[in-house]
Amino acid sequence: MTHKRLNFLPGPVDVSEKVKEAFCGAPLSHRSPEFLDILKSVKEKLCKMTGAKRAQVLMGSGTLSNDAAAAQLSLLEGQGLIITNGEFGERLIDHANRFSLDSQSLKYSWGEPLDYYEISEALKNNSAIKWIWAVHSETSTGVLNDIDRLKTVCAEYGSLLVLDCISSIGTVPVDLRHVYLATGVSGKGLKSYPGLSMVFHNSDILPTRADIPRYLDLYQYSRSESVPFTVSSNLVSALEAALQYTDYEKRYQHIDELSGLLRGLLTDSGFNVLSSQKDAAPSVLTIPLPEYISSCEFGKAMEDEGYYIHHRSGYLESRNWVQIALMGESLEQDLETLVVQMESYVLQTKNRDKGTTESVK
Ligand SMILES: *Cc1c(COP(=O)(O)O)cnc(C)c1O
Repeated sequence: MTHKRLNFLPGPVDVSEKVKEAFCGAPLSHRSPEFLDILKSVKEKLCKMTGAKRAQVLMGSGTLSNDAAAAQLSLLEGQGLIITNGEFGERLIDHANRFSLDSQSLKYSWGEPLDYYEISEALKNNSAIKWIWAVHSETSTGVLNDIDRLKTVCAEYGSLLVLDCISSIGTVPVDLRHVYLATGVSGKGLKSYPGLSMVFHNSDILPTRADIPRYLDLYQYSRSESVPFTVSSNLVSALEAALQYTDYEKRYQHIDELSGLLRGLLTDSGFNVLSSQKDAAPSVLTIPLPEYISSCEFGKAMEDEGYYIHHRSGYLESRNWVQIALMGESLEQDLETLVVQMESYVLQTKNRDKGTTESVK
């Protein structure tokens, strides 16, 4: 066992000393002017970063923000189209079903890019479709869907675009202009603690319906500048520090460089990367393992060496996949030593298996 602990998880990510310090203050009243100033600054920074006109901050994980988006979609007339190519896209269908949204889905294989021509044909052939809901960075597969192409399709057919940007914001540039609603979180790309999520919007939030639960009611958030009830000032202060002290432009570039390096190292060592380079989300690489290696044992063996790669989600376990995320503070040499460890684990397993077959003979 080593004491090193390198975080290659797609959240929670490592937070800086500034973020820790900001979190540790005494909790402020959510009605105090001091707190309201910090929250205002958080919202301004989030809007500046994404080009969205407004942002609501919610207390809860990303799933909460997608439920709040579904609640808002339930107020719209017309049908929706949900486009999926992985776990988180498929969860959007589940979010929609729980609100009985009138929607259809277009499903693509996990790890494949979307077919934008087919999406455009779907809108052309059904003028009742008024909104599209999709994931930007599909965290389960490491595929980055193309929001510019989705925007173009939506503009052509007058449809609203709703995006789950939960793992893209803070890892790649995200332009939310002309997007109806988009969701994000504090604890992945933005590099703060988990616990806050956000809904970005460019137009006014529609007045609510009485059956929408209070916690999911974006109208309440938008009317009260995101403070309809208690909000943790510690989480908001931590996020404010992350937004203030992280140079995101530099971060995007760093992640991109590391991602290219890691893909090369993995390929050279005989590992497959699920996404093709041209569709890749730079911050997550998904690696399907050969049958003779168990993703759980592999992941645990890497943890014993101090490398925390991701293998603990059901959708990874059932497919024998592991993931290396670059949302923390990785260095080139950490990636090099990680891939050496991975390769040597594979070799050892191969040799061990050979040993057993020979002794069985
Ligand atoms: C993590 C993630 C979610 C779910 O967020 P939680 O914070 O775990 O609730 C949804 N969508 C995407 C794309 C994600 O990466």
